[in-house]
Amino acid sequence: MSDAQDRAHPLGEEIFTPPPGVRVQRGSGGLSLHVTTPVRAGEVIYRAHEITIADDGRTYLIHVQVGDEVEDIVITSMHTVRYMGVRTFDIPGCFMNHSCDPTSVSRDVLDPSTGKVIAYEQIATRNLYPGDEITCDYTLFDWDCDGHQFHCHCGSDGCYGFIGGFRSLDPATQQRFQGEIYYETERMWHHTRT
Ligand SMILES: [Zn+2]
Repeated sequence: MSDAQDRAHPLGEEIFTPPPGVRVQRGSGGLSLHVTTPVRAGEVIYRAHEITIADDGRTYLIHVQVGDEVEDIVITSMHTVRYMGVRTFDIPGCFMNHSCDPTSVSRDVLDPSTGKVIAYEQIATRNLYPGDEITCDYTLFDWDCDGHQFHCHCGSDGCYGFIGGFRSLDPATQQRFQGEIYYETERMWHHTRT
């Protein structure tokens, strides 16, 4: 066991497996998410539930199906999103890489009776073929990318460069995404304008 694994709090013995049609892969750039079956633009790639943890700097040790192996992975602030005083993450979403021209986008799933967010669906933004990477735009659901800000080298025409959540986008870009961002990002954005 590494030091980081030693310090992490175990999150049960469960082995987290990606949903059907999705594979977590380890490559030279670390972990990434890929489709294993064809998905058309606009179709749901998978649905997942968020796991909520305290925003107290703790790390968690989980067992994850990566390719054909089970790996022990330490969940840190890099994998989580600050959300109304806590942090959330999910398998497989926390292993999805960012792109400024992503192959997918998330959509909240609401409980019809309470209106509360109970899950999310990851929707393909273009036709995907087995092996294609599932990427998303972190800035749409992460207000400040606390703990995982970075400089993007995705190479797309509209690459933002610095990724520091929705708050780091220029006002014109923020306006363009109005109506597409997550509830918490919307709430924080609203807060800065009032
Ligand atoms: Zn980029």
